[in-house]
Amino acid sequence: MFVGHYSIAFAAKSEKNKIPLWVLFIAVQFLDYIWATLVLLGIEKLRVIKGFTAGSMLDSYFHPYSHSLIAAILWSAAAAIVYRAVCSRHGYLYRRYAALIVGLAVLSHWILDFIAHPRDLAIYGNTWKVGLGLWNYRGPEFALEIAMLAGGIVLYLARNVMSAVRKTAVIAFGLGLVVIQIGDTYVPRTPLTDKATAMGVWIFYTLFVVVAFFIEKVGTPKKGAAL
Ligand SMILES: [Zn+2]
Repeated sequence: MFVGHYSIAFAAKSEKNKIPLWVLFIAVQFLDYIWATLVLLGIEKLRVIKGFTAGSMLDSYFHPYSHSLIAAILWSAAAAIVYRAVCSRHGYLYRRYAALIVGLAVLSHWILDFIAHPRDLAIYGNTWKVGLGLWNYRGPEFALEIAMLAGGIVLYLARNVMSAVRKTAVIAFGLGLVVIQIGDTYVPRTPLTDKATAMGVWIFYTLFVVVAFFIEKVGTPKKGAAL
């Protein structure tokens, strides 16, 4: 699962919970940030094998600290606690359940990975591995990612008040993500090393976070500007 994760970020944001979209963009990929960091540190292990599954080259054979179910639950709880603490400290206006939404957004990553990954997701530690393996079916997996992303963006547009300019920007961003998913699924390429793959995750995911940050600034009247 790749851009499908962002459907949850788009769907979770509402005018009421006031969670910044960029925070949700980090939340839904939080487990992959931990994973990429631990791969770079040589703690979690990854093999990049051409044709490992139809839709992905990643053989994540050891990732207990980022991608076991128990670890995912603990990271989700930690993210909720941190979000709540940071908001209260900075007096950020938010609803009490917003921290819970951030926690669930983190957990959503594991659930979507469970659909896509071959049996490489442990329940605890490195044992009892599960995964429905939708990555073995390139077309259906791709269709699911795109359908979810589209659904998430439709909800985002419906649940948030915004200018026509921002609406257009959000749709353009969505189309950009679709193009990236097409490249990831269908364009053949030589496998990168495990470390280069992890670096790529950091770079691309962070780029998306930056876009999500700026997209919520588009079409907002500047402070002090005449209305
Ligand atoms: Zn993942």
